[in-house]
Amino acid sequence: MTSETRNAPSLERVRHELKKRDLEVQSVERITPSMIRIVLGGDELADFTSLAPDDHIKLFVPDDKGMMVMRDYTPRAFDYEARSLTVDFAVHEAGPATAWAIAAKPGDRLQVGGPRGSAVLTGEIKRLLLIGDETALPAIGRWIEEADAGLEIEAFVAVPDAADSQSFKTCADLAMHWIYRPGGEANNPEPLLQAVKDVACGEGTYVWIAAEARVAKAIRTYLIEELAHPLTWMKASGYWVHGQADSSEKSIGEVPPRPA
Ligand SMILES: Cc1cc2nc3c(=O)[nH]c(=O)nc-3n(C[C@H](O)[C@H](O)[C@H](O)COP(=O)(O)OP(=O)(O)OC[C@H]3O[C@@H](n4cnc5c(N)ncnc54)[C@H](O)[C@@H]3O)c2cc1C
Repeated sequence: MTSETRNAPSLERVRHELKKRDLEVQSVERITPSMIRIVLGGDELADFTSLAPDDHIKLFVPDDKGMMVMRDYTPRAFDYEARSLTVDFAVHEAGPATAWAIAAKPGDRLQVGGPRGSAVLTGEIKRLLLIGDETALPAIGRWIEEADAGLEIEAFVAVPDAADSQSFKTCADLAMHWIYRPGGEANNPEPLLQAVKDVACGEGTYVWIAAEARVAKAIRTYLIEELAHPLTWMKASGYWVHGQADSSEKSIGEVPPRPA
């Protein structure tokens, strides 16, 4: 067993009671041209829990035939006192969740399920390397804002335009890189691959990747095969699959937990 495997961080799975909550839209804001921020409120949030930046909730939205369908989104922020939950929607051309967000207005209602659980990262992490597209930006924002003081974070995020960049309040030591490519090319791995070429991912670096499935796989393969980054020090997810509605690959090549 190598020292990298021996000292590898672990993802502690914490289960939450699965609940479906009926919430009301409090505000809708186009925070950047490609991102709609919706704040949901309601007393049913009194026992809402989200322990990890990459938790997900299920949103119940109507499709074009009026049937309710579910889509995965990140709890971008939660304010216990205000009983409010913030969700950021990346705007793309098709899809019931995006259509719902574009049309949403204060007073609308939304049913939200979960999170069912959280995968809490623990271990001797010296540095976080975060790589993703606009759909990963809510989770990346949480990784950055919730990081311990002084943690070194380097983030690479692909968005359509400079106006889609966001800023974050953080105690971490953050190096942020924005990669601009058209939204219609979000399934092309090249822009992000070029950006992370020879990125420093030395000992103690935990890599988190989330993007369109082909993009996430290509970056994961590059880090493993070209930069020899250990599998146990990364998590890669396909947050959506080009050309397929309601599709994701949440755990690309995930390494099973080590026996106790
Ligand atoms: C764990 C997890 C957390 C996520 N968190 C967020 C989040 O916080 N914010 C967020 O915006 N998304 C997030 N996503 C991604 C989101 O679930 C998908 O983008 C989802 O497909 C959107 O649903 P829809 O109804 O708009 O489109 P769908 O009906 O699912 O898809 C319709 C078509 O649009 C395509 N498509 C889907 N997403 C995109 C996109 N971003 N760009 C271009 N084409 C696309 C599909 O390939 C399909 O062809 C998350 C996904 C996962 C797995």
